Amino acid sequence: MSYKSVNPFDNELVRSFDEISDKELEQKLVQAAACYSEWKAKSYSDRAKIVNRAAALMHERVGELADIMTLEMGKRIGEAKAEVQFSSEILTYYANNAERFLADVPLHPSHGEGHMESSPIGVVFCVEPWNFPYYQLARVAGPHLMAGNTLVVKHASCVPQCAIAFEKLWLNAGAPPGLYTNLIISHEQSDNIIDDRRIKGVALTGSIEAGRVIAAAAGKNLKPSSMELGGSDAFIVLEDADMAQTIKWAVWGRMYNCGQTCCAAKRFIVVDGVADAFLAAFKVALGALVAGNPMDVQTTMGPLSSEAALVKLLAQVDDAVKHGARVELGGRRVDCPGAFMQPTILTHVEPGNPAFRDEFFGPVAMFFRVKDEAAAIALANDSDFGLGGSVFTKDVERGKRVASRVDTGMMFINNISWADADLPFGGIKDSGFGRELGDMGIQAFVNKKLVRYVVADAPV
Ligand code: NAP
Repeated sequence: MSYKSVNPFDNELVRSFDEISDKELEQKLVQAAACYSEWKAKSYSDRAKIVNRAAALMHERVGELADIMTLEMGKRIGEAKAEVQFSSEILTYYANNAERFLADVPLHPSHGEGHMESSPIGVVFCVEPWNFPYYQLARVAGPHLMAGNTLVVKHASCVPQCAIAFEKLWLNAGAPPGLYTNLIISHEQSDNIIDDRRIKGVALTGSIEAGRVIAAAAGKNLKPSSMELGGSDAFIVLEDADMAQTIKWAVWGRMYNCGQTCCAAKRFIVVDGVADAFLAAFKVALGALVAGNPMDVQTTMGPLSSEAALVKLLAQVDDAVKHGARVELGGRRVDCPGAFMQPTILTHVEPGNPAFRDEFFGPVAMFFRVKDEAAAIALANDSDFGLGGSVFTKDVERGKRVASRVDTGMMFINNISWADADLPFGGIKDSGFGRELGDMGIQAFVNKKLVRYVVADAPV
């Protein structure tokens, strides 16, 4: 049984789940494909009725859904509730806007008339991570179901109860069987699903390693895919930044979700004139966080998602130090039961240190001192990742200039990468391809069909 709910606050096993058999998997695929043939013919308003009902149920069940999340992956309860609310809003956003986003687009060819229409493509397979157990699911369910596709979804093996609770929402919302199907399956079964002729598209949010495997399998089968992968976002501080606000954003940007966010601020790049002041204040603010029970609203720092995640992060820090990094703060596990990591700051991370190019998926900040704005941009771009990033300056025009020169999919001025239902989210380079959310998020798995009408004699 490889799907396990383990509470990272005390590392106790809560429940485990068997993977389904190949026969059960086949039944679920048959059902998803049969459902597609009906669902694709439904009007947007009929689809919206189900999606809006699921959104309303999420809203009603905030407490229950948040408790499951906090239990399974340790997110602080306040953040967990906010995630459930946001997930509900994403569903509502697509229920309200899908028809407009996918409306026919008139074309003006030199001869005759034409338009582009958007139609669903079939059953889409989604593979999702544990770090935002409901938001990641809503980010695919809202757009792709409203577009007329049906979904089969493999969630991460450490959040099976969240996965089951989300599927139940759809059933309780009156969704036809096969519209949204949770799959408790192995990686091998996942490979077989991508090969299956009934699957018409593949969406992954996860690590680079999973991205390479899943994008290759989709490519081999000539299936469209979207890849939302890791990141190591730069947090650039210029000499004219409002330091008090910047420190607050730095703490939130690194510590939100206990640092386990793809678009978290991970590399703090500070110009020389304010570097000492920034580092001193950042250290005090991070050092003030106290490990505690994530179910308690007063807790300022929860555990990581699992003991395995903690062990991996500690090994990364040790390796960075072996290669010359210095620990300015923290660096060890917290001395208590559970998967707690001290808030950590690493300095002197030079190119050649594996840490320089790695993603730290937890409360570990890398601090870099640079000469000036140009050096900050050069360092921000010296990364294999290209997800998001931020720049802090009182001069917004200067912030926009810097933002334009950083090679990422998203840049934020005087705040840090965060998602909104109506803004496109995604990256470039090793951070993947495609965009989720906003108008772009619904376009990934639709057929953009040209229809042309001309009155003309056939050429002889
Ligand atoms: P992960 O190990 O890649 O897991 C993500 C999902 O992929 C899980 O469901 C996992 O299933 C599955 N998976 C992994 N390898 C697979 C394979 N060979 N075949 C089929 N499924 C496979 O990633 P993670 O460590 O849980 O999540 C953190 C990563 O996701 C970070 O790099 C983070 O930056 C990235 N992320 C990106 C975004 C974004 O929008 N760009 C958002 C959130 C997270 P199992 O659990 O069964 O292995």
